[in-house]
Amino acid sequence: MSQASPSARPGGGSRLSFFGAAGTVTGSRTLIEHEGRRILVDCGLFQGYKHLRLLNREPWPFDPRQLDAVVLTHAHLDHSGALPLLARNGFRGPVFATPATIALCGLLLPDSGHLQEDDAAFANRHRTSRHAPALPLYTEEDARESLRLLEPLDAGQPIDLGGLKLRLQRAGHILGASSAEFRSPRGSLLMSGDVGRPDDLLSCAPEPIAHADTLVIESTYGDRLHLAEDHASVLAEVIRRTAARGGMVIVPAFAVGRAQSLLYQLWRLKRDGRIPDLPVFLDSPMAIDTTDIYLRFHREHRLSPDECRGMSRVATLCRTPEASRALNALGYPAIIISASGMATGGRILHHLRNHGRDHRSSIVFAGYQAGGTRGARLLAGEREIRIFGEDVRIRAEVVSLPGMSAHADAAQLIAWMKTMPAAPHQVWVNHGEPAAADALRWRIEHELGWPASVPLMGQRVALPL
Ligand SMILES: [Zn+2]
Repeated sequence: MSQASPSARPGGGSRLSFFGAAGTVTGSRTLIEHEGRRILVDCGLFQGYKHLRLLNREPWPFDPRQLDAVVLTHAHLDHSGALPLLARNGFRGPVFATPATIALCGLLLPDSGHLQEDDAAFANRHRTSRHAPALPLYTEEDARESLRLLEPLDAGQPIDLGGLKLRLQRAGHILGASSAEFRSPRGSLLMSGDVGRPDDLLSCAPEPIAHADTLVIESTYGDRLHLAEDHASVLAEVIRRTAARGGMVIVPAFAVGRAQSLLYQLWRLKRDGRIPDLPVFLDSPMAIDTTDIYLRFHREHRLSPDECRGMSRVATLCRTPEASRALNALGYPAIIISASGMATGGRILHHLRNHGRDHRSSIVFAGYQAGGTRGARLLAGEREIRIFGEDVRIRAEVVSLPGMSAHADAAQLIAWMKTMPAAPHQVWVNHGEPAAADALRWRIEHELGWPASVPLMGQRVALPL
């Protein structure tokens, strides 16, 4: 990770340092320094392109032992996934997060450690690493250790961090997601975290902003608008078509958030008689456990207890590898939801191999497909996909559901910022690809008339706090 040169440091006072999610959407890590205290907001993994992933192996640009606290805005790994690494490098807590975020981290972080171990083992078996032996970034055990540092902080509940008051406010996006507000007698800062959309199927709308002198806002969709097309209708049509052909509907889905939206959507479509009553299988232990967490925190999303029950009962749960393998032999039309969401790994690969060759079947992508993944390649029209070392000819219909994003689009971000009763002194636009971040910066300056800048990776700026 690059550090700004000392000459870029403003003299004295409080500072904000962008050590991740600058010029990219992953690796969220922002350091607040205030009156001798150091608080890290989010501790995410860099993901995607290799040059970004390598940043996970760089030394920290601060001493983890000198941090006073970490605040996690939500459980997605690009915001929480480096916590085990920080703990292994000497950080001793506390980590503040909402109870729902803590519950989701309890699933995601050990799973991430497990995957890191698998990757290292694969590299050692196939000698694909320059390092011998290749070591995991962190282990499942490291992840479990780091979970002990988490301390629940309910949204709306202020806590004193020695001269700074921290308060989390609901941001929509996924279960437990929040923005982090910091106040001192001299000023205030709001770190948006990932901002949800006001019309999300499951998550409540982000809370309005009370006031912020400094605002740090994400810009994942800073240059895009969600399509108005109704994904429920697209989903219903593809299911009807596939059932009429006698095929299988295969849905790669992210286990956290997206799988639950799909279950809810399928329950509604069945209830309203818009799709035939096909069996639905949820073939992902992580998605099954996440669905349980959604039921446990039912007051924190839009679904009524009745809708929650409907969502959880619409699918047969396949927890064991045997239950998953049994789906290979299914001889009738059915819907299989499985992970990973971009078909980069996991049980979905078995279903793509088994049913993707069948022209009667459909593969339905229900989320963003990053460049280079099997999902992106299938959507781009490629039909020869390598799975488990075998070239598989895909004859199934390939469909993308429009508008299934957990992020606010550019207009929704602007509308959320407008909930502020007074203009901020400064907006920092982070967590976006360069074009998206700059497009949002332009809109903030020209439509709202507020000073806005896109920080560079490693940039330190003065913070009036
Ligand atoms: Zn997120």
